[in-house]
Amino acid sequence: MSATEARARDCRHLIGGKWVDAAGGGTFDDLDPYTGDVVASAAAGDREDAARAIEAANAAFAGWSQAGPGRRQAVFLKAADVLESRRDEVVEWLAKETGCSFGFGMFQMGFVPGLFRQAAGAAYAPLGQVLPSDLPGAFAMGVRRPVGVVGAISPWNAALILSARAIAAPIVFGNTVVLSPSEHSPYVGGLLWGEIFAEAGLPDGVLNIVTHDRAGAAAVGEELVSNPRVRRINFTGSTATGRKLAEAAGRHLKRVVLELGGQNPLIVLADADLEYAVNAAAFGAYLHQGQICMSARRIIVERPIAEKFTAALAEKVSGLGVGDPREPTTIIGPLISPAALETVSRRVDEVVKAGAKVLAGGSAEGACYRATLLADVPRDSEFAQVETFGPVAAIEVVESADEAVAAANATSYGLASGVLTSDPDRGLAIAGRLQAGIVHVNDQPVHDEPQMPFGGVKDSGWGRFGGTFAMDEFTEMQWVTVQSGTRPFPF
Ligand code: NAD
Repeated sequence: MSATEARARDCRHLIGGKWVDAAGGGTFDDLDPYTGDVVASAAAGDREDAARAIEAANAAFAGWSQAGPGRRQAVFLKAADVLESRRDEVVEWLAKETGCSFGFGMFQMGFVPGLFRQAAGAAYAPLGQVLPSDLPGAFAMGVRRPVGVVGAISPWNAALILSARAIAAPIVFGNTVVLSPSEHSPYVGGLLWGEIFAEAGLPDGVLNIVTHDRAGAAAVGEELVSNPRVRRINFTGSTATGRKLAEAAGRHLKRVVLELGGQNPLIVLADADLEYAVNAAAFGAYLHQGQICMSARRIIVERPIAEKFTAALAEKVSGLGVGDPREPTTIIGPLISPAALETVSRRVDEVVKAGAKVLAGGSAEGACYRATLLADVPRDSEFAQVETFGPVAAIEVVESADEAVAAANATSYGLASGVLTSDPDRGLAIAGRLQAGIVHVNDQPVHDEPQMPFGGVKDSGWGRFGGTFAMDEFTEMQWVTVQSGTRPFPF
């Protein structure tokens, strides 16, 4: 066993540059979702641990906020290199901690070095504007300043990308961070980043990491929300948890970036290329067994193409390989937990009882749920109304593009969407009518690049990660004037 592996199997908090146990001494088991094996024992943090981490982050802020752009840039360039040098080991950990297939693991491994190199460039982004003033002699500026300590709460599903995203922009703009990773990914979503940024030369206390089990998540979140030293929070996770956090943050008048769930539509217009549409729909709905916030969950098809498209998609979906995520042929690996499997099974069974048709899949296989395609799902069912985080998509047939837009918008969510058409102008016109933070024309919804403005509308949240768009979220705009002479006062 390598030294890194030994440490990974014993995930402690990182506070002020030191690896420490939870204040209460508790630990929890981190399980492989496919085999059920314990892959790590992690510190079970609570409020006190979060408070200690906030103190450390606050102490480090004065120094880091004054670090020059070259220094901040160097840390991110080095972090990208260090991560790349550990590629195989990290992809293996993504599989054993989060059930991630090799393909999705490699996608995450490609994305994050790009994210860090973008962040390195952002260290030199302009920090403000010179503003015209009517006051004689006044030179006025809007200057972006770091905000202070940022709390970062991340999910397990694309743990590598989403924890990296949660810390990169805050740190590069001069803030310090307390990262709270999901209980399902304390290593690839948490402690790994402590190792990598220490090697990259980030000063102690700039990044602090507090792990917790499911029961401890609320206490850590409460401390981040209520502690006055924490000036911003970014949260990526379910709409239900995000809503609770936003309600609490409202009481403290604290700004929160909310990156939440989706019920993402993929519109297939009658002029779409059939084979391309089938491949796009299968990829969009079933990559990472549908456990992606952007996954296509509703496939809205225009009547003239519906019959052929549905038959071809059902055939493709039935053939997607199910099983061990370490096998290169596996497309559908395990769901993250028995509870997640139970939710997916229950919701599918409920709609089937209520009259939905199963066109492919429709049952569990060990820790996995087969890729499932449904039709005729009742609109009032739980499945139709809330995100089901698994490999299940539903076909809806519509009579026109207008009806497709209305169906796509008939949800409380608004994260990502896709419009498949061979006419880009028509696709662009439809994009403007979709209530979604992200629209891909002639593509499916699952796509991300580090420099793009990523985020949702409606119940999918607010705020944007990506490139310099994140500057709005993690800096404070300060209006500064300098009076070059003296000005008259009326008394
Ligand atoms: P989750 O809401 O269960 O947990 C997210 C994070 O919040 C975890 O770190 C968890 O420990 C923590 N948490 C749980 N209860 C908390 C509480 N009361 N207070 C503070 N923190 C708490 O979500 P999940 O199952 O980890 O992730 C899947 C969800 O995330 C899906 O809904 C998916 O769509 C969404 N997601 C959104 C995006 C996006 O960018 N919009 C990206 C990925 C995932």
